[in-house]
Amino acid sequence: MHGHGKMVGVMPTTALPVLPAEAVTPPTDVTVGGPVEALGGQGRGRAAMPPQHLADLDLAGRRAWLADLGHKAYRADQISRHYFGRLVRDPAAMTDIPGADRDRLAAAVLPPLLTQVRERTCDGGATRKSLWRLHDGSLVESVLMGYPDRVTVCVSSQAGCGMGCPFCATGQGGLRRNLSTAEIVDQVVRAAEVAASGVLSSGHGGGAGGTVPSRLSHVVFMGMGEPLANYARVVAAVRRLIAPPPEGLGLSARHLTVSTVGLVPAIHRLAEENLPVTLALSLHAPDDDLRDELVPINERWKVAEVLEAAWDYAARSGRRVSIEYALIRDVNDQPWRADLLGRLLAGKLAHVNLIPLNPTPGSRWDASTKPVEREFVRRLRAAGVATTVRDTRGREIDGACGQLAASEPTRSSYSLAGQGPARGVGSVIDTGASVAQTRSLVQDPVGRTGRLVQSGWADSRGPGGKAKR
Ligand code: SAH
Ligand code: SF4
Repeated sequence: MHGHGKMVGVMPTTALPVLPAEAVTPPTDVTVGGPVEALGGQGRGRAAMPPQHLADLDLAGRRAWLADLGHKAYRADQISRHYFGRLVRDPAAMTDIPGADRDRLAAAVLPPLLTQVRERTCDGGATRKSLWRLHDGSLVESVLMGYPDRVTVCVSSQAGCGMGCPFCATGQGGLRRNLSTAEIVDQVVRAAEVAASGVLSSGHGGGAGGTVPSRLSHVVFMGMGEPLANYARVVAAVRRLIAPPPEGLGLSARHLTVSTVGLVPAIHRLAEENLPVTLALSLHAPDDDLRDELVPINERWKVAEVLEAAWDYAARSGRRVSIEYALIRDVNDQPWRADLLGRLLAGKLAHVNLIPLNPTPGSRWDASTKPVEREFVRRLRAAGVATTVRDTRGREIDGACGQLAASEPTRSSYSLAGQGPARGVGSVIDTGASVAQTRSLVQDPVGRTGRLVQSGWADSRGPGGKAKR
């Protein structure tokens, strides 16, 4: 659960502008989980936006801000080059800035946003999940994954999520607050630092693993939260990630994936931004009866409507949409549903990414069996639909899709799968004190077939939980 009721680590906000809190309201007006105040188990104490950080602004905005603070405007370029270009945050290393200015400057525009509470690794060192405490005590997670040809980070866009999908651990705790642009960007910058340090392995070879590029290349918005419910900040974060240094990190837009539960107006709006990012649509059922249950926002925007929005995105961006489908045993894995999905997608600019359901605390659902999964894949392919099965990277550290819930490591670990109270479908808002726990589904959207290297984390799971497999 978030925050354990204490306001931990509140930053001194000396003269630092605090980002406006009204932006916490999703522009799409679709908070299923209700207002933060209603979330009994979510964090007593008000969720507050962090102080402004240079990554919240574009370069022109940073120059104006520094000029207002009495600095030379070009200091914005210098400090931005350190942060984005060299991944340096320590003022002592910014030797091109006069010593007297450095600390004052860094304190003003680089307030620490993410305090690492814990880092866990698995897959032979190829997967690293970080738990971060934000300035107001909110907790979020990000997951870094090394492959032979790429380095991917899965980032959170909100602390919690208000969408209430019953199979997703994040959805069980409700929404605490939106993350600021810089809180999102900083997860990527911190991941890039780790990648540059060379500690990641690709997980190949069953242990110490093969080599991995030292440059972070891919970002997926598949951590905690619904990115399009925090629309403006997520789009600004995408712009920062794409802009070349010193304005931003200089990643390729084609290497970014924004995953959405299906907020139709926001999908259309994103299509108009002309950012060639990949859109992932979490469909999970081809029929409204079942999708209403699995993805509650479907009661607002139906399957036909959300697919129309996806095709609009594909047409305008020229990018193939990734249709995410978590296979849940005896729930959405029937052959007829595969056939129906195949008919909906045939001939469209889309591919299906099947996700073996990851275990979440208290859930009564399980992954489909392998034969059923294979038959599902076969039928989709027979319908002419490109289909992959996503790997289960991070599953043993609850760093896999839908397992991110960001709990404090107050017990033997922060992987508390199996220890949370049971809850059924529709029980979206947790009011118990011990809810919650980890979740985060994070994976590479490209769908590699799973290679899970046991790393000794499995013993941190609670007894008797469904999480054990
Ligand atoms: N809110 C966004 C992005 C974060 S969730 C969305 O829903 O798309 C990232 C992905 O993980 C989504 O496709 C989501 O449906 C999936 N997911 C959530 N819980 C899961 C679970 N327990 N097992 C497998 N996938 C899950
Ligand atoms: Fe939110 Fe995505 Fe989880 Fe649904 S699956 S509750 S939208 S994070």
